Amino acid sequence: MPTLHKFAVLVIGAALLFGLLLPPDDDGDRTTVVKPAVQGTEAVPAAVSGGPTASASPGGTPSAAPSTPPPPPQPAGAQAAQVKANELGQVPVIMYHRILAKGGSEIDRTPGELRAELERLAKGNYVPVTAAEFVQGRIDIPAGAHPVVLTFDDGNPTQFALDAAGNPAPDTAVAILMEMHAKYPAFRPVATFFVNKDPFQLGEEANAGVSWLVQRGFEIANHTYTHPNLAGMPTAKVESEIAKAEEVVKKVSGSPSVTFAYPFGNTPRTRAKDNAFVSKGDTWQFQGVFLAGWNPSVSVFSKEFDNTKISRIRSEDKVKKDGCDKFCSTAWLETLDKNPDNRYTSDGDPAAVTAPSGSISQLAPQYADRARVY
Ligand SMILES: [Zn+2]
Repeated sequence: MPTLHKFAVLVIGAALLFGLLLPPDDDGDRTTVVKPAVQGTEAVPAAVSGGPTASASPGGTPSAAPSTPPPPPQPAGAQAAQVKANELGQVPVIMYHRILAKGGSEIDRTPGELRAELERLAKGNYVPVTAAEFVQGRIDIPAGAHPVVLTFDDGNPTQFALDAAGNPAPDTAVAILMEMHAKYPAFRPVATFFVNKDPFQLGEEANAGVSWLVQRGFEIANHTYTHPNLAGMPTAKVESEIAKAEEVVKKVSGSPSVTFAYPFGNTPRTRAKDNAFVSKGDTWQFQGVFLAGWNPSVSVFSKEFDNTKISRIRSEDKVKKDGCDKFCSTAWLETLDKNPDNRYTSDGDPAAVTAPSGSISQLAPQYADRARVY
């Protein structure tokens, strides 16, 4: 372990020991500078050695033990084997904030940077799925393609706005996604927007604007009402933040959130189990809860998958700052390219879950009847 990482482990260990809370960052969802070093230290050997990512909690999605042994996996089709399908591999969930030509902070990207990253994904045979599709295991992409989840936080107008003619305003994230789909038709123009009290600052126009997105397969989801740091916040306040945002999401999109992202990636820590906030009666029921860093997610079909703590990757070049030379999007996409056996590759059949015989034991039991192996 590099000395810097050892130091980071000591620092965060001491902070936890003394109950110190890490300060939020005013600019957005970046949690802390030390966090990538700590999580990344766990992730690098896993990525290099071919194992699953070490970032997820053990246990995975809670599920009852089957009363009868699961059926043995069926043999995979020739095409699945030919494309080396691996639906237990890692999936990059990329986190974006504002799309600003200039004046952005380090978590923002320029239109040119977003365009370059999406083009790189399209050329790399990645196909976007929404966060909801991902957590529900609805990954319907061609054989040989890799899913990528594009998430945009805070509902900023640089992500989505319509011009006077009713088209996405130039250089917004949605306009750039549509451009990329026109250039690479297999690249589905879908994404997830984690929004707060005034989605895209549309005010009274929010219903019409969000309808435009929802009709085209984009996902609108809960990111709290006022974007507070939930760490240490009393339970009743956390619940109020989530509940009020859920009212907004239902009002503007016509349906409840399927997913949720913590502001700043900070979990409330006010209950023994953070997943106490995954659902609250009929008020909200999330099927996936997203963090702010720093690894690809394990596959939703893996027994390692924990739907209460899904890792995302910040969109950023390979710069030293914040560990982005290893743990932001450019670096991770390179790592996944170099370790193709670790990456999720589709078998082309959304009803089947295919993996090589060496890794099928990682399949979560609730998917046993869909298993295919080669
Ligand atoms: Zn945010």
